[in-house]
Amino acid sequence: MHRIAAQYLFTGKAMIPRGVVTLDDTGLVLAIEQLADTETCSTEFYNGILTPGFVNAHCHLELSHYRDLLPMWRGEGLDKFIHIMKDWYLCTRLDENMYMLMQQADDEMYDEGIVAVGDICNTNYSFSLKTKSRLYYHSFVEMLGLDEKRVQGIIEGIGEVYDDALSLGLSASITPHALYSMNPALLDYAVDAANKSRILSLHYKEGENERNSSLVPFLNRLSRNTRLLLIHNTFVSNTDIEAVNDATEKAVWVLCPNSNDYISRSLPPAELLYRKGQRVAFGTDSLASNTLLSILDEMITLSQHFPQIPLEALLEWATLGGATALNKTDKFGLLIPGRRPGLVLIEGIDFTNMKLLTTVKARRI
Ligand SMILES: [Zn+2]
Repeated sequence: MHRIAAQYLFTGKAMIPRGVVTLDDTGLVLAIEQLADTETCSTEFYNGILTPGFVNAHCHLELSHYRDLLPMWRGEGLDKFIHIMKDWYLCTRLDENMYMLMQQADDEMYDEGIVAVGDICNTNYSFSLKTKSRLYYHSFVEMLGLDEKRVQGIIEGIGEVYDDALSLGLSASITPHALYSMNPALLDYAVDAANKSRILSLHYKEGENERNSSLVPFLNRLSRNTRLLLIHNTFVSNTDIEAVNDATEKAVWVLCPNSNDYISRSLPPAELLYRKGQRVAFGTDSLASNTLLSILDEMITLSQHFPQIPLEALLEWATLGGATALNKTDKFGLLIPGRRPGLVLIEGIDFTNMKLLTTVKARRI
């Protein structure tokens, strides 16, 4: 049994000053309380904030080998980025180096305190790694393509990838890429499949070109119970947010600020989403558009650019928000008795202003 305490303990919903968590040897939470005045010396005390493990709601593990090529398309915009990625999918086959770099990315996420990942897959390259990973993955097997003649082939090819995931015992579902990249028949197929799995991830308003498109016809086809992950939201407006709220109670706005900054030197309207009381989660996107797969680093970026967003909100987005996005609040995102959500210590907090310093670090406890 371990008793671990810190200046603050964040449960996923609330901040407890001088909170203490009692865990058994398997990481099961036995109790959460406030540190008593007469503490025994068996309590470990840290000068930081304890939180549940982080959830990365949007990643592309299979693009991990792009890490070193990053400067090539920094700030060049989304169209150029997608063009390069398209070429990759047409000509790349899994090799040992790619596998090793995916493994490295998976290890880094673990060390950064991430416990669960929503991962986009266009191939089955990451599946064998996922069967051995210490992280929980939900694989969003993604469909995209505009050419009507190729629709049937894509449905069959992606269907095989999806079947591979299920045969390995992985959590997986079929999902559309984005509204602008889907033939209408392919979109119909992907939305039907996602409704059956009750979870759908959609790249949304990542680029300026999408600014004036409407999501309403798409929203009308979602089942009431389908969790909707809207990814990026870099160029969403107040009207967009209200249209989504009118159509569904299951939306989560997944923000990947570092990736947006890399690709288009823009950031999503995080403060607007906060003020409107939206459900938000973080994603890192892939190492093709980010230097790290670190949820803490995404929090630091928003904290610097939107100082009005309180630290508690950022922490909630990083934990419970992500668990909600993956329909996994029964396992992750909450530090409460009976759960095993992982335990992370964040050190390097400006406690006077309750802000993350840029030197802040997260590690597993
Ligand atoms: Zn993405």
